[in-house]
Amino acid sequence: MDDLRSVLQKHGFSFKKQFGQNFLTDTNLLRAIVSDAGVDENTTVLEIGTGAGALTRALSEQAKRVVSFEIDRSLQPVLSETLSGCENTEVRFQDFAKCSLPALERELGKYRVVANLPYYVTTPIVMRFVEEGENCLSFTVMVQEEVARRFCAAEGTEDYGAVTAAIARRGECRITRKVPRTLFTPRPNVDSAVVHADFTAGGFAVQSEKAFRETVRAAFLSRRKTLENNLIAVFRLSREAAKGILAEAAVSEGARGETLSPTELGKLSDLLFEKGLVK
Ligand code: SAM
Repeated sequence: MDDLRSVLQKHGFSFKKQFGQNFLTDTNLLRAIVSDAGVDENTTVLEIGTGAGALTRALSEQAKRVVSFEIDRSLQPVLSETLSGCENTEVRFQDFAKCSLPALERELGKYRVVANLPYYVTTPIVMRFVEEGENCLSFTVMVQEEVARRFCAAEGTEDYGAVTAAIARRGECRITRKVPRTLFTPRPNVDSAVVHADFTAGGFAVQSEKAFRETVRAAFLSRRKTLENNLIAVFRLSREAAKGILAEAAVSEGARGETLSPTELGKLSDLLFEKGLVK
């Protein structure tokens, strides 16, 4: 860290809390994240949140190409130094939330996402890849431990929710490692974990993405209510119609949405779609 600190100091860089700037420097951890991400010499990496470039450099050493987005332009002189010689790497100083994903996908072809982002932007960014990332092979993200559990939770648990089901539809998701707060500079108030979601394994098809999203929304609309009541509220069904659909989907009477697995939610959404209840 001393090296990085002196580079940051030399360029008069000050950490910006609003951008969640907690940087990693532990070489073993950086290599482990690159390995968790399944990066090899054929991989194009889309990194979000370059920071001072430590993870970017580790990615660049293994990947074919790295395109990394960083919102804070004041890191430019630091990155010119820390990424010198990384010929396969390009940093774009842009807010990733404002970039067009379809255009980027056309440019990159198949790619893997790697990100260590501020916690408040991670879930919306992950959801973009889950919902729109057609060329996305996987994402590997550093998140707050609690968020990591939510991404990978089993049905029926407290952590299971709409985000879990959405990710599971695309692929297999697991926590690859826990990362104590002491490994960041400056040190955040929470511990973190790395989550890897593989979109080439597991996952399942649904007849309509929109129907699936609406079904998942209904399932978790109000956790204290039964799925039947939530379906009535979201799809404006009569009680009789809701009971009929749930019986057809083999969901037991009085069940709550959070007890259905992602695939069961997928089957229910197909049924609602087939019956023309979601367009
Ligand atoms: N990857 C580096 C590392 O592991 O040390 C930096 C991680 S730091 C937690 C997050 C970085 O994301 C910061 O450098 C921050 O400026 C950048 N960032 C925050 N919001 C962003 C956004 N919307 N688009 C691109 N970069 C962003």
